[in-house]
Amino acid sequence: MSDLNKLEASLSELIGSENVLRDEDMKEHTSFKIGGKADLFLDVDQIEHIKPCIDLIKASGAAYYVVGNGSNLLVSDDGFRGVIVKVGQKCAGYSFEEDGDKVKVKVSAGMSLIGLSRLAADKAYSGLEFAAGIPGTIGGALAMNAGAYGSEMKEITLKARVLDSQGEIVELYGEELGLRYRGSAIADQAMIVLDAELELEKGDKAQIEAKIKENMDSRKEKQPLEYPNAGSTFKRPEGYIAAKLIQDTGLKGFSIGGAQVSEKHAGFIVNKGGASARDVLQLTDIVAGAVEGMTGVSLELEIKKVGM
Ligand SMILES: Cc1cc2nc3c(=O)[nH]c(=O)nc-3n(C[C@H](O)[C@H](O)[C@H](O)COP(=O)(O)OP(=O)(O)OC[C@H]3O[C@@H](n4cnc5c(N)ncnc54)[C@H](O)[C@@H]3O)c2cc1C
Repeated sequence: MSDLNKLEASLSELIGSENVLRDEDMKEHTSFKIGGKADLFLDVDQIEHIKPCIDLIKASGAAYYVVGNGSNLLVSDDGFRGVIVKVGQKCAGYSFEEDGDKVKVKVSAGMSLIGLSRLAADKAYSGLEFAAGIPGTIGGALAMNAGAYGSEMKEITLKARVLDSQGEIVELYGEELGLRYRGSAIADQAMIVLDAELELEKGDKAQIEAKIKENMDSRKEKQPLEYPNAGSTFKRPEGYIAAKLIQDTGLKGFSIGGAQVSEKHAGFIVNKGGASARDVLQLTDIVAGAVEGMTGVSLELEIKKVGM
């Protein structure tokens, strides 16, 4: 039996063969609809199975990469040699606990951020209005310190339980999570978020709904939501707006293969149909080179590359 077959068998025993997929097309698991096949793809069935799955993978010597909803990823056309570990919908769960004017939210890593924002709004809990249109999981949102409209995960996160790179489950509080603009100690140190505790406030339902509507209307108006994409291609360089810098190079609408600098919002690259990861990378190189040449500002990818 090959090493991969052995690993597949032991993971299947742990989480069920229906959750262990061979040669899974990563196009189906990314918002960009780009990516080749992963040797093994685990759709982890419960939070408490994350550690034993990772222990098995590490013992086998295989490489692995954790994904949430795949909304910030560019996966190689050659896919991923090793195991993609999805902490998604099957690892979702939440509870709200009121404490005076505050509300503690216990939430599992696979919970949808949009879903949680909606549930909080229904209960008139304020603090997640910014997240209503961010299509990630709690785990992905913490790893990226997701944010929008002047707010970010850092402001509402009290603590998280993570599996660290030594294979230990630890609780990290506030500053220990190292949440900063589109980054975190979680991502730097390849930790895996298991669950988190957030803090919201009791608010006014009409005001919360109005704020969400304002944010969502702005997204629909400005963002190319009609095409597969992975959100902002580049991080915001200090003191600049990436989309404005790109627009000024004249590259808005420029395409390589199926990948295009969105005609609607130059900060996004969209998949107009059949784009490859190679198309996207060539395009990001051209865009970053043009911006640097014109302004001296270097753009850093916000999108995470996987398998390359
Ligand atoms: C239309 C659109 C709009 C977007 N708007 C915004 C926005 O306004 N603001 C913003 O910040 N982002 C935005 N994004 C990007 C993306 O939605 C966020 O970065 C989101 O937080 C990613 O979550 P995910 O679950 O999809 O993570 P993935 O894309 O699956 O992974 C992203 C990173 O998180 C890591 N990760 C995932 N799960 C875990 C876990 N359990 N533990 C540890 N690490 C983990 C991965 O390893 C990877 O490094 C947008 C994307 C799209 C497609």
